[in-house]
Amino acid sequence: MELPEVEIIVTVLNKKIIGQQIEKVEIFKPQMLERCTTQEVEDNLSGQTITSCIRRGKLILKGMSNGAHLITHPRMTGIYHYYQGYKPPIQQVNKLDNQIKQKMLKSLNFKEIFARSNVTTNKYTRMILYFSRGGKLYYQDKRALGKIFLYRPGEPISALAHLGVEPLTEEFTAKLLKEKLHNCRRQLKPLLLDQRIIVGIGNIYAAEILYHAGISPFKRGNELNDEELWRLVKAAKAILKKAIALRGTHISDFKDPQGEEGEFWKELCVYQQAGNLCSRCGHRIAHTRQQQRSTYFCPGCQAL
Ligand SMILES: [Zn+2]
Repeated sequence: MELPEVEIIVTVLNKKIIGQQIEKVEIFKPQMLERCTTQEVEDNLSGQTITSCIRRGKLILKGMSNGAHLITHPRMTGIYHYYQGYKPPIQQVNKLDNQIKQKMLKSLNFKEIFARSNVTTNKYTRMILYFSRGGKLYYQDKRALGKIFLYRPGEPISALAHLGVEPLTEEFTAKLLKEKLHNCRRQLKPLLLDQRIIVGIGNIYAAEILYHAGISPFKRGNELNDEELWRLVKAAKAILKKAIALRGTHISDFKDPQGEEGEFWKELCVYQQAGNLCSRCGHRIAHTRQQQRSTYFCPGCQAL
């Protein structure tokens, strides 16, 4: 998950969970908890109302009425699924297995059956927040590489302490980027992934941003001239905005909390396009590795 996908998750969650009171929390994979135990999560969140849900970089922060914060870092495969248990949409009813359907028809007690049914629980469910009005928020993570942080009321949020600039804010300018990079001898692609400099950009969007800016991923941070810095900032904002508008990139099973897939993968010009011809210059898109990560680029448009 990179900035656009996390932004989409947060936008949907905002409509669903703000103002809802948490009845209880269930953690299925305590290994994903950072700095806390299952019991501490339960103690700090039960009975609290969610007052905010925001994105910072690739993190999702939920603020509670007692001042505690629950933070998730979805990393590769973390997704949320919100489920208003007592009023199932018809397509979800159709997905239920026959046994539950029969039982439902007999008893017509939707509330009880949906409270018990496993329609959205699967082996990748790592956490469930149960709300007092009956909704449930599932956090599912196939590879379980994500992290769940709890910050108790008043505790400084150390997970945010060293994060860099948000690329979609006015603060992110060519001037600021110059200040951040002028002493950096590292190559540009790993620099774009460094969350202490700019937040939210991962491997997919770094490749696309550099392609659209027409800059080599192997160029060093301190080698960029003013015009290149400007092009990089412009490309970063344009690509991230477009990805949000198209609801993200459907790679690594990304779906938003309503189960919808993103469309940005259709727009990918270089990422996972090795061997295809560049639509601008006709060179074949190349693939290599930089610091153990895949790098895709056009040797024509992005020459060193
Ligand atoms: Zn090209």
